[in-house]
Amino acid sequence: MTEKDWQKKWDEWELYKLDFNSGKPIYSIDVPPRYADGMLHVGHATHYIKMDFVARYKRMRGNEVFFPLCVDVNGMPIELSVEKQYKVDRKKTPRDKLIELCTEFANKNLEVIRQQFRSFGMSLDESQFYRTDSHSYRRITQLSFLKMLEKGMVYKKRHPVLWCPSCSTALASADVEYYPRKADLNWIKFQVAGEEEFVEVATTRPELICVCQAIGVNPEDKSKKLLIGKELITPIFNKRVKVLADKKIDPEFGSGIVMICSIGDKDDLEWIYKYNLPLEQALDEEGKLTKLAGKYVGMSTEAGRKAILEDLRAKELIEKVEETEQSVGLCWRCKAPVEFLQISQWFLKTLEYKKDVLETSKQIKWRPKHMEIRLKNWINSLTWDWVISRQRYFATPIPIWECERCGEIVPASPDMCYVDPTRDKPPVENCPSCGGKLKGCEDVFDTWMDSSMTALYNCYWGRDDKKFERLYPMSLRPQSHDIIRSWAMYTILRSFLLTEKKPWDNILIDGFILAPDGRPMHSSWGNIVDPLPIVEEYGADAFRYWASKCMIGSDLPFQHKEANHGRRFLRKLESIQRFIWLSLDSKPDEPKELRAVDRWIVSCYNQVVANVSKAIESFDFPRAIEQIEVFAWHELADQYLEMVKWRLKGEKDLSARWTLYQIGLGLTKLLAPFLCFSTEETYQDHYKRYEREKSIHASEWPKPIKIGKMDMLPGELAKEVIGTIRNWKNKNRMALNAPIERVEIIAGEKAEQISLVSEDIAQTLRIKDLAILEESEDIKEEILGVRPQIGRIGAQFKEKTKEIVSLIKRADPKEAHSKIERDNEWQITLREGEGVSITQDHLKFETGYSIRGRKCDLIRVEDLLIAIVS
Ligand SMILES: [Zn+2]
Ligand SMILES: [Zn+2]
Repeated sequence: MTEKDWQKKWDEWELYKLDFNSGKPIYSIDVPPRYADGMLHVGHATHYIKMDFVARYKRMRGNEVFFPLCVDVNGMPIELSVEKQYKVDRKKTPRDKLIELCTEFANKNLEVIRQQFRSFGMSLDESQFYRTDSHSYRRITQLSFLKMLEKGMVYKKRHPVLWCPSCSTALASADVEYYPRKADLNWIKFQVAGEEEFVEVATTRPELICVCQAIGVNPEDKSKKLLIGKELITPIFNKRVKVLADKKIDPEFGSGIVMICSIGDKDDLEWIYKYNLPLEQALDEEGKLTKLAGKYVGMSTEAGRKAILEDLRAKELIEKVEETEQSVGLCWRCKAPVEFLQISQWFLKTLEYKKDVLETSKQIKWRPKHMEIRLKNWINSLTWDWVISRQRYFATPIPIWECERCGEIVPASPDMCYVDPTRDKPPVENCPSCGGKLKGCEDVFDTWMDSSMTALYNCYWGRDDKKFERLYPMSLRPQSHDIIRSWAMYTILRSFLLTEKKPWDNILIDGFILAPDGRPMHSSWGNIVDPLPIVEEYGADAFRYWASKCMIGSDLPFQHKEANHGRRFLRKLESIQRFIWLSLDSKPDEPKELRAVDRWIVSCYNQVVANVSKAIESFDFPRAIEQIEVFAWHELADQYLEMVKWRLKGEKDLSARWTLYQIGLGLTKLLAPFLCFSTEETYQDHYKRYEREKSIHASEWPKPIKIGKMDMLPGELAKEVIGTIRNWKNKNRMALNAPIERVEIIAGEKAEQISLVSEDIAQTLRIKDLAILEESEDIKEEILGVRPQIGRIGAQFKEKTKEIVSLIKRADPKEAHSKIERDNEWQITLREGEGVSITQDHLKFETGYSIRGRKCDLIRVEDLLIAIVS
């Protein structure tokens, strides 16, 4: 059956449907809702597949697994895609129309996403499906806001906020990423008021001269001391501004004299508040210069900068321009540089709860452990509360109305939610304090307000108290490291504010999958790897194999060769099962006793079961798959199957057959979380008719096979000896089934144990005559040949070399050896009668072994001596 057919069967069987009434413990996964813009690369696929490993493993371990299919259908990327795809301008299109288009766009992607998930073999539960734009989801976001409003945790205030002029919305600190950038630092001449003298003020943003409120110098900068307290006159705008002394000003930056503008960067803002300077707005919500900029009004910051520099240059007010490196904050969605704007916004108190978030985080098990540091550092660096309102439209509306006359806020009542105040009626007709008209809030929530509710939504918070009690906190949050400061941090914060508890027991932080060139995948670099053609080419299981090789938390480049390796491994597994089922015609009964080599492979298998379980429990998938692979490939296929072949011919060997069945089934189960399709195929083809469960994915995780306290040594010895002699055959270019005349194993005190497996050794290697001895005095080292060292002979004997070499070759090596042993030299006589003395230096003796006069090869394996007589 194809992978698609299996998906259909699994649906029919409802394998992944959560059953609250099964009585099993619930393992719940706070699945990251897939973003509904349809974009998909190998990184997404790899992350989700790793979550699937956990879900499948936990089901086999006897858990009811909560693993919802979910999509994120809020926010800007969808709005931007809609503007692009439908060629609409958001400013000219009615709000309702835009929301409709966004919903339509997302809906189209939902089926695509569902199919993508299915093609990787994700075992997501569709019965718990949710989307973040549903009324049911948005209702929870709104309820949580109302609750926080009631508790005084949110407030509205006019305050400078980070602003993306391109998206025209406020942003939270977590939405801004800082990058180094080269910029021009202009040394601009400002006149000292009442004097002839000019000083140079260094700035990268001359367009903000219009809102320059003061000039700053460092008080320890001796050369600037005289300026402190004086006034300068701003060029073009001719405004008098005071020179302040502040220790935070870097005297090494440019001229050491800087402008303090209303809104330039965070430092400016700090000084504005510190020195109580006016907060003037140089930029509007689209990043255009305001009336304060005089003749530059309406220009973008770049255009304004260019224009004012031209004017300054014309007046010869630019002393010089130098290149400088600066750190610029970019909007994480659209990568436009952000500005600070003073606008009335809603805030969620964050600073007040820093300690609580850190305490709550401590109760969560972070994997890898070191990732928690990123959360700590981020929280400790926060200086502002979280701006939760956005001036967008495709998101959850803020459920409030405001009085147009007095500004009074009228929140929706909880039973009204979900509510859209731009369309729905307020709970009261008019403003309760002044009777004025109420206007529905047009702002929406930051989409993290929705996203940070996933754990609470999953646990039926605000929907079903009984289920909430049972589910909360969730078992696991898997997510990537780039959104620790947003998704992880906000979820912990919101969960704490609403429940005073942690949202999950474990958080699993994954790394990035990079392009094969080692760089991050980026559409503008054209290096995005689409997983679907890879799945198509290699099969989903080969792709899942690659995912299993990716260490949690590490950034790794995608490698085709791993998928290819996965495909080879799958073929090997197939051939193992084929071998097993060529030998079996039913499920063999358990034998009374296991033969030594069977005990050996069972004990190897038991070790693997223990190690793999341990590795998966700690999310170390590469270690798990490596353990299974080494076992399947090397111990089982290369060794055991070779060792057992002879016992499968003719009369039924129960011990061998039972072992093959148990290990064949166990191996399939160990691989089921990883290779979900091929293991199902194997199970259905061979094992199902003898086992209870309808699917391998509904079966129990394997336990070690009980073999009692039997001696493992004979099996180990058989494996060692057989491996060694097989290598010897290989080296001697003999077919593996080529017969060997006689082998003697000198085994010392292990002779008795090795005798127990002598038949296995002889049969596997086709040894006609195998003797196991405690010791042997019959093995002798002897001289088999002698080779003249021509270089040395030539150096000493010159033109006689040829003759000497031919004499050495014709001599009896044993005789030559004994002469040199006795006399330290060997006299040979040349044709002309001349005697020359040959010493050890001129020769190389070849030694070998013989046993009772017959040549043999001697191999030492630990404390065994193996003599192969040829
Ligand atoms: Zn933006
Ligand atoms: Zn009012």
